Amino acid sequence: MAEMGTLHDAFLDELRDAYDAEKQLTKALPKLAKAATSTKLRTAFETHLQETQGQIARLEQVFQSLNEPVRGKHCDGIAGIIEEGKSVMEEDFDEITMDACLIASGQRAEHYEMAAYGTLVAWAQAMGHTQAVKLLQQTLDEEKAADKKLTGLAEGGINQGAADAAQSDEEDAAPAVVSAAAKKTATSKATPGNRR
Ligand code: FE
Ligand code: ZN
Ligand code: FE
Repeated sequence: MAEMGTLHDAFLDELRDAYDAEKQLTKALPKLAKAATSTKLRTAFETHLQETQGQIARLEQVFQSLNEPVRGKHCDGIAGIIEEGKSVMEEDFDEITMDACLIASGQRAEHYEMAAYGTLVAWAQAMGHTQAVKLLQQTLDEEKAADKKLTGLAEGGINQGAADAAQSDEEDAAPAVVSAAAKKTATSKATPGNRR
C-alpha cells in the first residue's frame, strides 16, 4: 500500500512552490521597475527585488532547518500573475495610467505571496517547526509591508492622477461629455482595489 502524504509533505511542497515563485519574481520585478514612470514606484519595486533576494536566502535557511535539500517546484499561480502583468505592460496606456496598472499587478503578486506565507507560518506553527516559523513570519511581514507601500502610492496620487488624465483625455475628444464625466469623478472617490 502506498504511503499517504502528511501535512509535512504538503508543507515541503508549499515551500518548494514559494521558493520557485520568489525566483520567478526576481525576474519580473526589474521589468515592473523599468516600466514605472513614478520614481517612488520604481524604487518600491527595486527595494522589493532586494527583499525578494533575501527571502530566497531565508527559504534556503528554512530547508536547512528541516534537514531538507533546497528545491523549487514550478509555481503556476505566480507564473499566471506575472503573465497578466506582462500583458498589461504591452498595452498602450499613458504613463500614470500604466503606473496605476503596474501597482495593480504588483499587488496581485503580493497577495498571492501573503496567502502562501500565511499558510506556511500556520502549518510550521502547528507542526512545531519553531525556526521555520520565525523565518517565514519575517517574509510574511515583508510581503505585507510591500503591499501596503503600493497601496500608499496608489492612493497617494497615482490613481487620482490616472483618473484626471482620463478626464482631460475625454475633454479633448468630446467636450460635450465632460460635465457628466466630471460629476461622476467628483462623486465617486472609492478606490477599494488598493485598500487592504
Ligand atoms: Fe516574496
Ligand atoms: Zn504557487
Ligand atoms: Fe513579494
